[in-house]
Amino acid sequence: MADLPTLIGETDIQQRVGELADEINEAYADTDLLVLVGVLKGSFMFLSDLAKRLRVPHRVEFIAVSSYGDRESEEHTGAVRLIMDVRHDLAGADVLIVEDIVDTGHTIVYLKELLQARHPKSLRLCTLLHKPDRTEADVEIEYLGFTIPDVWVVGFGLDYAERHRTLPYVAELPPDQR
Ligand code: 5GP
Repeated sequence: MADLPTLIGETDIQQRVGELADEINEAYADTDLLVLVGVLKGSFMFLSDLAKRLRVPHRVEFIAVSSYGDRESEEHTGAVRLIMDVRHDLAGADVLIVEDIVDTGHTIVYLKELLQARHPKSLRLCTLLHKPDRTEADVEIEYLGFTIPDVWVVGFGLDYAERHRTLPYVAELPPDQR
């Protein structure tokens, strides 16, 4: 398998994850319980590396969603569907959604509405990547790793048809390889 062009290298990712963890440790220093809600599957590596650096009391939950239709097709409405819910009650907890990438923003709007209805004490978003050129929805990102251009990225949890997900860095997948 030929090497893909690196967009964000391993060292840069790890350094930024460390900085985000510092910010989160400080922001939640007085928390009784922080619940990280990782959005499957894309966030699993980011969440793992981030959580290893947290010093505040925290739990890990996962949620899975999927969007209707192919994202490039006309049926792609932006509608999001819940595939797997979290396992425990979130009422009264400080909830931090951990996402791989914010693209159009529809997934995050859906998730914030869904989780807000569970009455958390607070609800924030931490995402590794953001593509502002494609974002249609009004999303507030409290903790952001990197802003990237409008290219398809893989690696560090992100896939293309389940491929390239476990690369330790973020690469750009050229159109001729899709
Ligand atoms: P949104 O609802 O913000 O448009 O989409 C978010 C989801 O789309 C992400 O969680 C991710 O699964 C997928 N996505 C968006 N852009 C990319 C990309 O460049 N690469 C990969 N692998 N997934 C992406």
